[in-house]
Amino acid sequence: RFDIVVVGAGHAGVAIVGRLRQAGFAGSLALVGDEACAPYQRPPLTKGFLGGGMAVKELALADDLAAVGVEHLAGVRVELIDRDRKQLRLSDGSAIGFGKLALATGSRPRRLVVPGAEAAAPFYLTTMDDCLALQARLPAVAGVTIIGGGFIGLEAAATLRGLGRSVALIEMQDRLLARSASPILSAYLEVLHRREGVDIRTGTGIEAIGAAGVRCTDGSEVAADAIIVGIGSLPNDDLARAAGLRCDDGIVVDRHGVTSDPDIVAAGDCTRHPNDFAPTGTCRLESVQNAVDQAEAAAATLLGTPTRYRSVPTFWSDQFDARIGIVGIGQGAEELAIRGEIESGSFSVYAFRDGRLVAVESINRPKDQRLARKIILSRNITPAQVRDPSIDLAAVPA
Ligand code: FAD
Repeated sequence: RFDIVVVGAGHAGVAIVGRLRQAGFAGSLALVGDEACAPYQRPPLTKGFLGGGMAVKELALADDLAAVGVEHLAGVRVELIDRDRKQLRLSDGSAIGFGKLALATGSRPRRLVVPGAEAAAPFYLTTMDDCLALQARLPAVAGVTIIGGGFIGLEAAATLRGLGRSVALIEMQDRLLARSASPILSAYLEVLHRREGVDIRTGTGIEAIGAAGVRCTDGSEVAADAIIVGIGSLPNDDLARAAGLRCDDGIVVDRHGVTSDPDIVAAGDCTRHPNDFAPTGTCRLESVQNAVDQAEAAAATLLGTPTRYRSVPTFWSDQFDARIGIVGIGQGAEELAIRGEIESGSFSVYAFRDGRLVAVESINRPKDQRLARKIILSRNITPAQVRDPSIDLAAVPA
């Protein structure tokens, strides 16, 4: 039996155990993760790691866990939570008890379900193993077809172009990043990717995958030596749901990270949580910032100091020469205002909802991103001020 068990050894899980020890927690602590390797950072998978510029050990997420008294059970899946007996059933047949439990099970890629997809064994690139498998195949790959124009698909496209492969990218919606970016950012990235040689086809679904490649709903066929799929993700909330915890497209937690069981907290991609930036009041976020900050709050809550999670949502992506930063949540924005020149490749898009600044997307403008984290919380910026380059947004009164 452990005083605290954390399920999932990703960004959130590792941050929870780290925070607990930092805060002086001296009880017994276990981290159970179904991946057999040491915990690793996920964002580089489609960036520097796939590009070949990073070694496996550079992905490491945690220093020596054993040295801080964390028992890491690697390659072991939690199959069942018995809340009455406060016990977890593990995939190796054993069981461990817990005093308190933290769920940090992350999310999994949505699978492509069309005829031939299973046999084609596409890459999803969300785990190190899958990236290593694609890397091993690359010498025999001249052309790659990417299904899905979200961040994973776009980053993979940029990296593979950098490796000299021909790349086609198929997106069902009529624009890239339709769920997560403004139309201005989508349009900019479409131009950028096209200029770099990516064959982008929007407004086209996938009908089937066959020996000749990918057959699209518009009747066209795209040949491919390898197929990558990035069509969104689903929260790993099945374990929680089977244990009777409240779930709603994610494990439902309160502002302190507590699930519907007071002895169980959750953090990271797997949670649906209250968020002041979400248009509907709650959301599920997939970012390192969210995972780590939620983990910090959840760890403090576990230690008896209920701590509110109230960070500004922050995300980044790298594609070709574009360093993209997003602060806030821009969904449902009614007005967009631009600073900088789109043509220069250095600009920011300020998104307003109900007259309030709710998100800032930047391309190669790190200063705007840093400032955005402040002004989004405290200041009354207007679209007209954003558009007027003579106004210093940092100096606008709150
Ligand atoms: P994860 O890091 O996914 O960890 C969850 C872990 O729990 C996994 O190892 C999983 O296998 C394990 N697990 C699940 N169920 C069980 C079980 N029953 N028993 C045991 N273990 C279990 N975010 C950014 O902010 N910027 C980026 O540029 C960026 N790029 C990304 C690129 C890629 C390719 C991917 C995949 C993600 C990227 N993200 C990025 C998102 C970011 O990586 C995630 O938001 C973050 O990893 C979430 O952390 P987490 O701990 O919630 O989940």
